[in-house]
Amino acid sequence: MITLQDVRDAKRRISQLAHTTPVFSSQTLNILSESSVFLKAENLQKSGSFKFRGAMNFLLSLSRENLRNGVVTGSSGNHGQALACAGKILNTNVTVVVPEDVSAAKLSAIKGYGARIERCGRTSTERLNRAYEISQQTGAIFVPPFDHPWIMAGQGTIGLELIEQLCDFDAVLVPCGGCGLISGISKAIKEILKNARVYGVEPEQSNSTYLSFKAGHLVELKNINTIADGLRTAVPGTLTFPVVQKYVDDILLVSEQEIKRAVVFLLERMKLLVEPSGAVTVAALLSGKFPLKNKKVVAILSGGNVDLFALSKWIKEIKQGG
Ligand SMILES: *Cc1c(COP(=O)(O)O)cnc(C)c1O
Repeated sequence: MITLQDVRDAKRRISQLAHTTPVFSSQTLNILSESSVFLKAENLQKSGSFKFRGAMNFLLSLSRENLRNGVVTGSSGNHGQALACAGKILNTNVTVVVPEDVSAAKLSAIKGYGARIERCGRTSTERLNRAYEISQQTGAIFVPPFDHPWIMAGQGTIGLELIEQLCDFDAVLVPCGGCGLISGISKAIKEILKNARVYGVEPEQSNSTYLSFKAGHLVELKNINTIADGLRTAVPGTLTFPVVQKYVDDILLVSEQEIKRAVVFLLERMKLLVEPSGAVTVAALLSGKFPLKNKKVVAILSGGNVDLFALSKWIKEIKQGG
């Protein structure tokens, strides 16, 4: 399990290279949620999501010698973009295995950072297996998307940054996919603010962390169907899940409609472009599913990489449907 010192070391390592992202608040959101809400804008992080923190900490934890053959991962989105971006900054060769049906927007973002692209299959298992194979053949280091101590510690730097920015708060809401983000943040926060609560948020239609948390063991999903593409994980990590069990207070679920409403709210009212995976926390607040009232609450906006064609469809749907 990672330690608070691991997160502190990660923060020192990445501090000159990652953005310290701003924290925003809104009277309207406070009134609608009956809370005092602070939004941590990781949608404004380099590469467009918090995944830059974990990827950068991973690369900086390797020796120059280890980096000689480059790094490789499988990703359809933010982890691939983050690793490509971190690799460009450190002048390291990056290969990203993407699905055959990758969106043009994501492909051009990864290419834009100069990474080598390989297409393979459609599922995360297929592309991660292929990435692992490339690693065996070329000596490139495999960089997992969430289930690694360096990744978890990198994501946890958000927790330390929040304590610097806000001093104290009652609760933090965190999106859950493979749980690299929430494991890192909960480790950092619970070790320093003993009374702060940590809540995970997942889509109803991709609820593997919720099911695993309630069952007390890993539960793998067969059917996943959500617009929150960063949260389409079949099962939490074997390293991340024990941290979730130890530190997380509860997991909240939100519907697809609630996610779309949150995306549109953030754009229209707060001028923040946040992708569905990053807006689930605000969805939990706006839908009244967050159980505490009149508390100081932080919601993590985890990313902003969104397909504008899909976004325009959701805006129409929400605005016309009311
Ligand atoms: C990857 C991702 C998540 C989930 O992070 P995990 O560490 O897999 O739990 C949440 N939001 C966005 C925008 C992501 O890219």
